[in-house]
Amino acid sequence: MDTTEISSIDARHVWHPYGGFPSTTRPLVVAGADGVRLTLADGRELIDGMSSWWAAVHGYRHPVLDAAARDQLGRMSHVMFGGLTHEPAARLAELLVRITPEGLDKVFFADSGSVSVEVAVKMCIQYWRARGRESKRRLLTWRGGYHGDTFAPMSICDPDGGMHSLWSDVLNRQIFAPAPPHDYEPDYVRLFEELLERHRDEVAAIVVEPIVQGAGGMRFHDSRYLTELRRMADEHDVLLVFDEIATGFGRTGELFAADHAGVAPDVMCVGKALTGGYMTLAAALCTSPVAETISAGAAGGLMHGPTFMANPLACAVAVAAVELLLERDWRAEVAGIEQGLRDGLAGVETLDGVADVRVLGGIGVVEMDEPVDMQRATDAAVAEGVWLRPFGRLVYAMPPYICSADEIARICAALGAVAQT
Ligand code: PMP
Repeated sequence: MDTTEISSIDARHVWHPYGGFPSTTRPLVVAGADGVRLTLADGRELIDGMSSWWAAVHGYRHPVLDAAARDQLGRMSHVMFGGLTHEPAARLAELLVRITPEGLDKVFFADSGSVSVEVAVKMCIQYWRARGRESKRRLLTWRGGYHGDTFAPMSICDPDGGMHSLWSDVLNRQIFAPAPPHDYEPDYVRLFEELLERHRDEVAAIVVEPIVQGAGGMRFHDSRYLTELRRMADEHDVLLVFDEIATGFGRTGELFAADHAGVAPDVMCVGKALTGGYMTLAAALCTSPVAETISAGAAGGLMHGPTFMANPLACAVAVAAVELLLERDWRAEVAGIEQGLRDGLAGVETLDGVADVRVLGGIGVVEMDEPVDMQRATDAAVAEGVWLRPFGRLVYAMPPYICSADEIARICAALGAVAQT
């Protein structure tokens, strides 16, 4: 099929994220991807500044990940997980339990980040049901969050003008505290705790993105908030859930964002970089007390079981991706990206229309005063040979960890060019 035909079929029949018909942007046709570069059907090459939405941390066509996929394909691509198990799932579970914060001991495999959040929420509600506390079924979260596009995650995304406000009348009513300030403010914690105390009999869990609130605003906050959340959750009898789908596997400079504070949640969601961006796989991990309480309840177990749960291909690639990460000096790689982003974005702060520039680990954010025009912004980045996908007032990059200093400099130049469109 030639490029024109692909684009024409796409325009007529294919939904794209957050899109409709006719599409307001023109999707570029990608013919291949190798290392940190996407090759377009017309031959142009773009450095992927987005890691395919936080996921492709090792880049594309990595020989180790390709080999893991091929090897597993030679054994079995899929098998149902009800009543059956397999080595890729066992190895991945053991690996995740070893590297995630202390106490997270049980692994529920899901097929996407959103579904892992659904599962985490079900775990928390079922936990309190099993303890005879049926009223504890609401969630307490921060404004400015993003947890996915299915119904439970949507109910804890930013309710104010966020992309899910269309649904506000049909979503479960959750409890929202303001987004945490960047720096540590004891007054903020006091207000949060008052809210929690007021609602403690209805709250099943506090659910947050630790250290970085992603798609809901790309905001960073002090790690002491996480320490305080752990204390408050314990003192007020609620569970604590960390959504590490975007932050997990080194992106913030620690293996998990929770590690910045040295705290462990009761339930934690991971996804995206779990398979190095190769396959769709996520997981909700929980502590033994959570799992044992649920299992001792009337239902006798967790009422969830996706068809593609623990897909062996995805698990095998995930084992290879996580082992590859641990073998590499990912800490130095992410620190190098952080420095490169800081250096490269130093001049962007003073540009007209730029409200703020912030960098943390492998994440660089340019926040504009006004929303950017998506098509013009994408065109400006592509003209610089870089793939970026700005959203609203946010222009940002989270490059693959294998980017060279030169490639990071080019990503920064593209962020600057987009900020000037
Ligand atoms: N939580 C967070 C923090 C995310 O960034 C995302 C994806 N952007 C999700 C949940 C949802 O994951 P998925 O798109 O795989 O359903």
